[in-house]
Amino acid sequence: MPRGVSMSTVEAFIARHRDWVSQKLAVRPARVAVEPFPPTHVSLPAFGETYRLHLAGGRGRLRASVRGGVLSLRGAWDAATPAAARRALLSWLTDHARTELEDRLRAAASRGDFRYRSLQLRRQRTRWGSCSSRGVISLNICAVFQEPAVLDYLLVHELVHTRHMNHSAAYWAAVAEHCPDWRRLDRELTQGWKRVPSWVFA
Ligand SMILES: [Zn+2]
Repeated sequence: MPRGVSMSTVEAFIARHRDWVSQKLAVRPARVAVEPFPPTHVSLPAFGETYRLHLAGGRGRLRASVRGGVLSLRGAWDAATPAAARRALLSWLTDHARTELEDRLRAAASRGDFRYRSLQLRRQRTRWGSCSSRGVISLNICAVFQEPAVLDYLLVHELVHTRHMNHSAAYWAAVAEHCPDWRRLDRELTQGWKRVPSWVFA
């Protein structure tokens, strides 16, 4: 911070470049320790769900599904090919998350009287979400590993972009209207990468 520059200038500068800052923070090499794979449990705090992972064995291609509250991985298990197990888990996670996230986005939109065109899910290390000028909202699937309030903030963040395609003062005022605690939740989300289990990007 150069000498003689006012705090408000600094804050305005940071606000203008917040996407860049978030991306730089996000792509910093993860300090997350690599957990053993397959994990014993899969937790989705955003939905208040935890599943024990059961390696059911069997034949054929590995598939993951929930039966009786247990996440079962069925199919030919070969310890030398954890990649197949990872793919099966990701595929289950994406399908499961899509239904839930669609419901939550629809509910958040109707609460704030927002209109959007559709929802896309992505798996990426650099951003949590985006909103195109055509109203297509993209959410990072890693949002399911955040607390429910953090997910709600992310939904509001993207929905408000359907009215303000920027991070102007007017934009943040509108966010605050729908999510008064947005500052804290935005900080939580910036640090949210450390809550993503290592198998998601292994
Ligand atoms: Zn934004």
